[in-house]
Amino acid sequence: MMNKYIYMDTAASTKPSDNVIKEMIHCAKDIYGNPSSIHDVGFMAKEKIDIAKENISKRLSCSPDELYFTTGATMSNNLAIQGWLKANPNGVIVYSSIEHNDIMMLIKYLKKNGIQCIEIPVDKYGFVDIAVFDKVLNNLKEDNKKFLVTIQMANNEIGVIQHTSLLSNITHNYGGVYHTDATQYIAHLPIDVDFFGIDILSMSGQKIKCVKGIGLLYVRSDIEIHPIIFGEQGLIGGTENVIGISCLSVAFNELYKSNIEMDFNNYKTLLLKQHYFIKAIESLGLNIVGDKLYRLPNNICVMFKNIDGGNVVQFLNDKNIYTSTGSACSSHVDEPSHVIMALGYSDDEASSCVRFTIDDNITYDDMDYVVNMIKMLLAINY
Ligand code: PMP
Repeated sequence: MMNKYIYMDTAASTKPSDNVIKEMIHCAKDIYGNPSSIHDVGFMAKEKIDIAKENISKRLSCSPDELYFTTGATMSNNLAIQGWLKANPNGVIVYSSIEHNDIMMLIKYLKKNGIQCIEIPVDKYGFVDIAVFDKVLNNLKEDNKKFLVTIQMANNEIGVIQHTSLLSNITHNYGGVYHTDATQYIAHLPIDVDFFGIDILSMSGQKIKCVKGIGLLYVRSDIEIHPIIFGEQGLIGGTENVIGISCLSVAFNELYKSNIEMDFNNYKTLLLKQHYFIKAIESLGLNIVGDKLYRLPNNICVMFKNIDGGNVVQFLNDKNIYTSTGSACSSHVDEPSHVIMALGYSDDEASSCVRFTIDDNITYDDMDYVVNMIKMLLAINY
C-alpha cells in the first residue's frame, strides 16, 4: 500500500522516534529544574545530563568529560573552528571544497578577516584529493604553522563517505588537529573516535530521529578550544537544554543494540532499497552524482540535466513526494550547489540535481510510484 505521502528528505531532518517523544514529554513535565541548582529538583536535571554523557560517550568511545552539548551541528562546527582559532590565533584552517554551508560561510568570513584558510579539492566522485592534501599539509609543517583540518565524514548532498582514518592519519603525521562534521555519517555507521583518529567531532540530533535544537561536540581532552559564547557553564555558556540532551541520549540508544554494537538491520534494509532506487533511476537515463559504493545508504542524488532541480522538487511535491535540491538548508538560495560544482559539473548541471534521502519507512511500492512520477516528468519535458 502507498503511504499518504512519501518523505524522501531524511538528510534534512528525521521524524523523532516514539521513544524520543516520550522522553521529551517526560522531561518537559517532570525534569524542569536548573541542572546547576544544588537541590533535589536541580539534581534530577543534572542526573539526566550525566546519564546522557555516560551513554553517548560509550558509543563514541570517549570520556563523558570530552562531550559538550550544543544547539546542533552548526554551533558545533562554529565552536570547533572558531574556538580552536581563538586558542591558536595564528592557526591555519584546511577544509574540503564540499563542506556544509555553515563551514563554507564561516571560512568566507575568516578569509575576509585575514585568517589563512586552504581549500582541498575533491575528484569527480566526491573524494578529497589525497595528493593535494598531503602536499598542503607538508608545506604547513615546513612553515611551522599550526593547523586544523575540517573535513566531513559524509556529505549531506551526495552522501559520499570520505576516508576519515587516512585523512586524520596524514593530519597527525604533519602535526595537525583533525575535526570532522559527522552529522550525516553518524545516523548510519558507528564511530569510534580513537579508531578514526578524530580529535574534534560535530553532529546534530535532528538527523538521528531526535528533536531539533540539540547537537554534540566531542573535543579530545588534550585539545584546547576557547569559548565563543561566555557564561557560567564553561565552553558552552548558558543553562543546558536538558530536554534535548536527554532526547539525544535516547536517540543514540535507538541506533544501537547494546552499549557498543550498532543495529545494522536498518543499514542493510536501506542499502537494498537504495540500490533498487538507483537502478530504476539509471534505467530512465538519469545519472547519480558521486560514488555509488562509498556513500550513505539513504542518499540518492540525481542529475536531471536539462530540468531545473527546483522544478523537479515542486513537481514531486504536488504528487506528495518530498525531496530537496542539494542541501535543504540552501534550498531557498538560488545559486547552484557548491558541492556538485566542486565535482566538476557546470552551473546548469549543478542546478538540475535533486537529493532523495530515504528511511526505513519507504516501501518498494513507494519507490515504484516515485519512479513513475519521474517518468511522467521526463515525458513532459522532452
Ligand atoms: N553539517 C551537515 C553535514 C549537515 O547535514 C547539517 C544539516 N543539514 C549541518 C551541518 C547543520 O545542522 P543543524 O542545522 O542541525 O545545525
